[in-house]
Amino acid sequence: MVKPLRPLQDPWEQLRWQVEAGADEALADRPIDRYAAVRSKAEPDPAPRPAAQTGRRPAAGASIAAGEAAGAARAASDLPSLRAALDRFEGCALKKTATNLVFADGNPKARLMLIGEAPGRDEDREGLPFVGVSGRMLDVMLGHIGFDRSTAYITNILFWRPPGNRQPTSIEIAACLPFVERHIELVAPRVLVFLGGAAAKTLLNRTEGITKLRGRWFDYQTGAMAKPVPVLATYHPAYLLRQPAQKRQAWRDFLAVKEKINELS
Ligand code: URA
Repeated sequence: MVKPLRPLQDPWEQLRWQVEAGADEALADRPIDRYAAVRSKAEPDPAPRPAAQTGRRPAAGASIAAGEAAGAARAASDLPSLRAALDRFEGCALKKTATNLVFADGNPKARLMLIGEAPGRDEDREGLPFVGVSGRMLDVMLGHIGFDRSTAYITNILFWRPPGNRQPTSIEIAACLPFVERHIELVAPRVLVFLGGAAAKTLLNRTEGITKLRGRWFDYQTGAMAKPVPVLATYHPAYLLRQPAQKRQAWRDFLAVKEKINELS
């Protein structure tokens, strides 16, 4: 016989359950019943929709969002207008649960641009990328080659935090991608670094994992760029915090980045 689920009585137990489920941020002082409006309007569906319409809906919505993103990103002629376009953009569901847009940090005139995955809790709160523990690790790695946030520019492939730091979906990534591409075009760095598998696979359009991609130089170029920018993929700082034995490889990657920047200067 299946044992009925025991209701959670203890408030600490309830809280722990919510944190484990990914609800680790208070968005408002009081709970909001978002289903109330839906319940009060709900009427029985008079007739089921034809299968051809219902079945294709999510994919069509996703490509409309990506199309809107491409148009808005292309129209941005500088970084403030790109940021404003993201502020207006409603095509990425992550925006609804995030506290802040996380656009970029550092020097937009820097020769070095680094791109990570997605904002976490600290980044969502402050509206800046890499300000939590991974950010401290990244600062150490940059310091290793004589760089800091006044000489590097930092962003992510997602501009809003996935709730509970879950993996971003391919639809969320596709909705942000045109803005990321335009971001790179507008900053026009000498050298790019992709931090972790999500950034590397998305922007290089590759299927291999980060262990296969790291430590190798690729060319990055969009249709609007006159010439390709050299890019190195390396481990994400969060991975290095979990796997300190891999730091030696990442240090080596960062030294190669420094050499490349010197070579191109
Ligand atoms: N991890 C990322 O990939 N980006 C951040 O901004 C913070 C943590």
